[in-house]
Amino acid sequence: MALRTGDRAAWLRGPGSECTGMGEPPLRSWRLILLGAPGTGKGTQAELLNTRLGACQLSTGEVFRAAKGCGDRPLSPALQEALAVMKSGGLVSDDTVVGIVGERHRCLSCLHGFLLDGFPRTVEQALALEEMASALDFEFDAVINYELPTSEVIRRLSGRRTCKGCGRSFHVEDLPPRTSGICDGCGTALTQREDDRPEAIAVRLEAYRAATAPLVDFYQARGLLRTISAEGTPAEVFHRTLQALGAE
Ligand code: AMP
Repeated sequence: MALRTGDRAAWLRGPGSECTGMGEPPLRSWRLILLGAPGTGKGTQAELLNTRLGACQLSTGEVFRAAKGCGDRPLSPALQEALAVMKSGGLVSDDTVVGIVGERHRCLSCLHGFLLDGFPRTVEQALALEEMASALDFEFDAVINYELPTSEVIRRLSGRRTCKGCGRSFHVEDLPPRTSGICDGCGTALTQREDDRPEAIAVRLEAYRAATAPLVDFYQARGLLRTISAEGTPAEVFHRTLQALGAE
């Protein structure tokens, strides 16, 4: 796979951090929202889209995980609360998430475009994002809605293993590492995300059904929705995504 564009420092570490490795902005910049239940592969598709379209993956979940791994700085009370909620599989409060995205507004006006992954997750967040778009004067190209049967979502999430060393993701059945439990890339022991454990998966799926699924109608009404099947290999889903965007 081609390398990801840019180090996303401004997104992952927040205001005051400068991105490196971005190169020249593409001729056409894309502003996309990736929607879909946890486990539908939005993160994988965002990485593939980044290498093809140049737009950065802006994942709110990754901002929280990056804050957790940053042992050198004390966490604000809002972030401490967010991390506790995240562990259980629930949704972090709209105020906290909207605040985090709002203070990273430079990423939303970046000439390289962006791929929002995991935000918005509620109608309130979507309305706040519309206000940011109007204040920053940009429009979305599309909202990609990935669909997958619940049984497959559970199979994908419960088999996922990630490397804390280099961030690579594996799956015990679909993408096993060469040596069981060890990252192929850097040799670190693989772990299961706390929110990929069965109790947390159930909470995440219910949060998706109750709070995020209404966004399908929300973006349908705005003429932005492109629904595609997330079944099959990442390459197959990627092909469908590019087709839906007319970006082949
Ligand atoms: P993700 O990596 O997108 O699956 O997000 C991991 C967890 O971070 C979620 O289960 C939530 O606890 C929290 N989170 C990430 N993005 C949001 C959001 N937009 N709204 C509320 N909680 C979020």
